[in-house]
Amino acid sequence: MSALFSDAYAQAQDAADPLLALREQFLIPKHDGRDQAYFCGNSLGLQPRTARAHVEEVLEKWAMEAVEGHFTGQAQWMPYHELVREPLAAVVGAEPSEVVAMNSLTANLHLMLVSFYRPTRERPAILMEAGAFPSDRYALESQVRFHGFDPATDLIELEPDTPDDGSSSGIFSMASIARAIAEHGPRLALIVWPGVQYRTGQAFDLAEIARLGHAAGAVVGFDLAHAVGNLPLRLHDAGADFAVWCHYKYMNAGPGAVAGCFVHARHARTERPRFAGWWGHDQSTRFRMGPEFSPTPGAEGWQLSNPPILGLAPLRGSLELFARAGMPALREKSVRLTGYLETLIRQRLAGTLQILTPDDPERRGAQLSLRVLQGQGLQGREAGRSLFEFLARAGVLGDWREPDVIRISPAPLYNTHADVMRFVRAAEAWRAA
Ligand SMILES: *Cc1c(COP(=O)(O)O)cnc(C)c1O
Repeated sequence: MSALFSDAYAQAQDAADPLLALREQFLIPKHDGRDQAYFCGNSLGLQPRTARAHVEEVLEKWAMEAVEGHFTGQAQWMPYHELVREPLAAVVGAEPSEVVAMNSLTANLHLMLVSFYRPTRERPAILMEAGAFPSDRYALESQVRFHGFDPATDLIELEPDTPDDGSSSGIFSMASIARAIAEHGPRLALIVWPGVQYRTGQAFDLAEIARLGHAAGAVVGFDLAHAVGNLPLRLHDAGADFAVWCHYKYMNAGPGAVAGCFVHARHARTERPRFAGWWGHDQSTRFRMGPEFSPTPGAEGWQLSNPPILGLAPLRGSLELFARAGMPALREKSVRLTGYLETLIRQRLAGTLQILTPDDPERRGAQLSLRVLQGQGLQGREAGRSLFEFLARAGVLGDWREPDVIRISPAPLYNTHADVMRFVRAAEAWRAA
């Protein structure tokens, strides 16, 4: 067992990793002259080397061709979003017509809510998780109010399970989700649930949530900010009505990158209301510039504007790497890498770190969320801040989530077993200091 805790073991694992070459495709920030151990891919993924070339291609085309860049040569801007459509569909397990890259996550969530949250007196309510990412809660609460309903009764926030010892790690059992859907079912207009919970790293069975929600008569949408590029998704088969996500976390498309949106094929020609813009208009007649809106079938029909081409460009580079790796191989590596981190924490740091994330690999992605119990004579939040800052000084970058969680996400596209060893050694050094 203890053989696992050695540089030789970590190096041998990395040498045998079929995806190791992909690490070379990323720019890794330096710390004291060597690569940082970067575990923040769940917050801002690293820059693929090809991102710059794709951005420069756009700048060059703009310089040389100006307005004609829309219609001429390689990577024309008019259909530019189509360049990412198929590789993106592969990453999320959708048909190409079910996905579109546009806007930002929260903007897409609002656009989806306009179409898919249609509350009535009998069915006004939204079911969501308590402790959701704030933007999601703000969006949902504001939509409930916008429709003239009262969030106090109509925004139902399910609390995580409380174990027998009264502690709470923020984990939801499927049984409690099922109970909530059964209990509130007749009043539910909509369920919005995360693919992976941002604070705890818990992954959910999306197909089961969609099945239960639909059986109760509700619409079901997912926020996949922490799931896309992290877990193999099968959105079409899972039956989600819609999903939204961003591309700057595990998708490595850069700060504020153009986001993603999924609309299930069964809604491709929906009569539901939507907020319309000219880029969602049927392409064959868009430039007749007529007054009547006639949507493009599928997710592209929700586009508003011609997209920011410079913002989309890095996503092309990122998706090339996902296509090269393939989600199944990435996931296989991710399970090994995060499993290695978990094993070493249990072997070497029990009593110092508590793992909040479920230990079943099926119920998590890359991220482990850690609570610091004690060390250096400190406890709880103070111990957490102290370790977090010590790690950063050692070139090991995790991230901090209030009130007391350190998130460590080994991203399988670029992290290594050697990175994981560095985290564990640094945490041991902190405890011993
Ligand atoms: C990262 C994240 C967001 C961010 O929203 P933006 O609109 O991209 O700023 C929203 N929701 C969740 C769950 C997230 O993890």
